[in-house]
Amino acid sequence: MTGPASTLAERLAAVDARIAEAARVAGRDPADITRIVVTKFHPASLVRELVALGVRDVGENRHQEALAKWQELDDASVRWHFVGQLQSNKARQALRYASVVHSVDRPSLVHALEGDHAPVGCFVQLNLTEDPARGGVRGEGLEHVAEAVLAAPGLELLGVMAVAPLGEEPRAAFARVREASERLRRFAPGAASISAGMSADYPAAILEGATHLRIGTAITGKRPERR
Ligand SMILES: *Cc1c(COP(=O)(O)O)cnc(C)c1O
Repeated sequence: MTGPASTLAERLAAVDARIAEAARVAGRDPADITRIVVTKFHPASLVRELVALGVRDVGENRHQEALAKWQELDDASVRWHFVGQLQSNKARQALRYASVVHSVDRPSLVHALEGDHAPVGCFVQLNLTEDPARGGVRGEGLEHVAEAVLAAPGLELLGVMAVAPLGEEPRAAFARVREASERLRRFAPGAASISAGMSADYPAAILEGATHLRIGTAITGKRPERR
């Protein structure tokens, strides 16, 4: 189904079938899982095609590109998720389109996002690697940033987000994410969501409790060259 001859509709259906199957194996209701289609590097026309196929949740990882597509589409039915690293000086601009920011990883970004606006969903991003230069919090940074989000006007703490590191079995990485989620819920019981799972590993993420999947190439096909 993912060969070169497959269509967007076929790939979307195949991914949704695998999501349903993994949920069944995990004893979970697929309705509790939000499948976000990551459309980075693809044109707004692809988002339009996805919308015609019933997609509502779309993910982007670069601010300028996301802003341009949001403006071009001008479609209020799309829920835009920002999943990339976000500079604090771009945060206010990102709120023009983003309903959810998956990459909150420092108090300064929380303060740049907070304000007197409709609630914006926030995931605290975890860094599962040994490399501190990667986005995301490590150790007690989770509590630190989560407390800042809880105290911030206009922000709603949804849970934790992570990318499985290369070189680690994804299920083991997602088990660590689940532990972090349990830690978070001890002081923020409502923040029970987990944003985890990409094209290569989303079934494993579902087995470890992921509620928000960020899936790009398995649905969109290969990404065009970075513009
Ligand atoms: C690009 C991206 C994805 C989707 O990646 P695929 O491997 O194409 O599914 C998910 N999450 C983040 C943060 C990304 O940047």
